[in-house]
Amino acid sequence: MLELVFATNNAHKLEEVQAIIGSKFNLRSLAEIDCYDDIPETGVTFQENAQQKTDYLVERFKVNCFGDDSGLEIDALGGEPGVYSARYSGSRDMEQNIDLVLERLVGAESRTARFKTVISLFLEGKQYFFEGTIEGRIIDERRGDGGFGYDPIFIPDGYSRTFAEMSAAEKNLISHRSIAVSKMAAFLKGF
Ligand code: IMP
Repeated sequence: MLELVFATNNAHKLEEVQAIIGSKFNLRSLAEIDCYDDIPETGVTFQENAQQKTDYLVERFKVNCFGDDSGLEIDALGGEPGVYSARYSGSRDMEQNIDLVLERLVGAESRTARFKTVISLFLEGKQYFFEGTIEGRIIDERRGDGGFGYDPIFIPDGYSRTFAEMSAAEKNLISHRSIAVSKMAAFLKGF
């Protein structure tokens, strides 16, 4: 079985992705390869940040690996918060980050937005990218208490509920992350 390092220490993410990928590849977390470093994320695109993770691991650990980067793009804010999604307000406090988004959207003509994930995969000497996007819009108040991040203010196209009002299973069927992971899983199955 081929080993593949996932540039994460989030056990939940690892389990979820392992289930989608199946048993052909054995996923390892950063801790499992004794990587406790704070991998830099200084890119200006999701793709750059995702690749920074795999470049880092390939250089130092010489492993097959993948890493992801995600965020929210709002058209009326010129694509912000984008790669700054986790600390848009300068703090990691999502209450403050959501407040800032809502404040900046007051009076905006368009509230269209999308969540995006880019996965960088480095396998047997080659680099691959997989992208997942879900289009939707930002509402003007919080609704629901499931999920995380910007979920309470995002309604995907074709739905009337926010991501935070959906069950995890329902969100996972349509999310940007699951789309990108499924694309990578399909590629790995045929590898
Ligand atoms: P990460 O690259 O997956 O860590 O995502 C970076 C940031 O984007 C998170 O801290 C969230 O603020 C935001 N984000 C990414 N995915 C989601 C999602 O599915 N729901 C809500 N916010 C998200």
